[in-house]
Amino acid sequence: MALRILLNGARGKMGRAVAAAAPEMGVAVAASTDLGDDVSAPMRSVDAVVDFSSHQATRELLEAAVALGKPVVIGTTGHSPEEKARLLNLAERVPCVWAGNFSIGVNLLFALARRASRALGEDYDAEVVEMHHRMKKDAPSGTAARLLEIILEERKLDRTALRHGREGITGERARTEVGVHSLRGGDVIGDHTVIFAGAGERLELTHRAGDRAVFARGALRAAQWVSTRKPGVYDMQDVLGLA
Ligand code: NAD
Repeated sequence: MALRILLNGARGKMGRAVAAAAPEMGVAVAASTDLGDDVSAPMRSVDAVVDFSSHQATRELLEAAVALGKPVVIGTTGHSPEEKARLLNLAERVPCVWAGNFSIGVNLLFALARRASRALGEDYDAEVVEMHHRMKKDAPSGTAARLLEIILEERKLDRTALRHGREGITGERARTEVGVHSLRGGDVIGDHTVIFAGAGERLELTHRAGDRAVFARGALRAAQWVSTRKPGVYDMQDVLGLA
């Protein structure tokens, strides 16, 4: 039987992409909610919840899911690190996949970026560049944030190493700096490049998303996967077996 989901943020770009991809993925969108709707009552009758809305909606959604013991897929981005840390305490009480990007290619990019950071070390300056459509509300993207976390982890650096854009007399680039640059414009669905620049050579790893369907299908695959798991927070690497 088809997995029955509550889709939160249903009227948005991703909400519509998830609803369009659901039939081919064997999932039924049994309830749709958006800004201003109560999520608790419609959540009672579904098997899992998929959220692509706003970072401000995540707390209420997770509280309802914990109260009802429902598996959750969080695709929404834009949480501050402190906000996310608090929300993860709630999320781990239900089976939850939380991922800033549900595409298979980007999840492979995460693994490749980790491998390159480890192999190249700090002789190679790391910078992350992302571009998204002009309507995107948060920066850097959740995917860029994850790429930065990976580079910081591999280089044993903390968030003070991040350099969000540059302007004016910046001085020479510190070896430990990790640059991040957010471009916005047009209808770009999501481009991410990780650059490792050394003396005499430069490695660039790029992913370009051409259709929101890749995120939608990934999120629905995550919903199916998480609906049979024990409580805990998982990411797309777990769903795809790349962890
Ligand atoms: P969008 O602005 O087109 O849609 C967001 C929808 O959420 C709108 O319909 C809006 O009315 C609704 N909404 C806003 N506040 C709400 C609330 N409090 N409760 C319920 N609904 C609310 O945006 P989008 O492009 O669809 O992206 C939605 C989110 O998903 C963003 O955070 C975006 O960064 C993220 N995203 C994640 C992935 C991924 O793979 N994880 C991919 C694309 C987008």
